[in-house]
Amino acid sequence: MTDVLSPAKRSKLMSRIRPKNTGPELILRRLLHASGFRYRLHDHKLPGTPDIVLPKYKTVVQVRGCFWHYHTCIDGHVPKTNTEYWAKKLAANQLRDRKTDAALKALGWKVFIIWECDLGSGLQNLVDALKAG
Ligand SMILES: [Zn+2]
Repeated sequence: MTDVLSPAKRSKLMSRIRPKNTGPELILRRLLHASGFRYRLHDHKLPGTPDIVLPKYKTVVQVRGCFWHYHTCIDGHVPKTNTEYWAKKLAANQLRDRKTDAALKALGWKVFIIWECDLGSGLQNLVDALKAG
């Protein structure tokens, strides 16, 4: 099967269906709110503009989509069309994530990553970790 869109167009199209307020993030926000945790959203003052910031716990939560962030699960794979383009792009995303996480940790933040494919246990672990302080 050939891809009818050029890599640039495909990328533009796919970035449009990657809004800031994605499903898993909304679930996380509801859960945190219901559990009484206060957070800030998309803090531009911190490296990488983290999705969710819990200042009181000095914790940053990154909700990561498996495809875009090249997770080691079935959803994190290089597409079969425009392979070279995607391999580069996903590797760059992954590198940026590592740098962002390292920069946040260097500033004294705890970085908690929740993967889309593992949302349920990710959320549970997060709440447990926050409750434990
Ligand atoms: Zn995954």
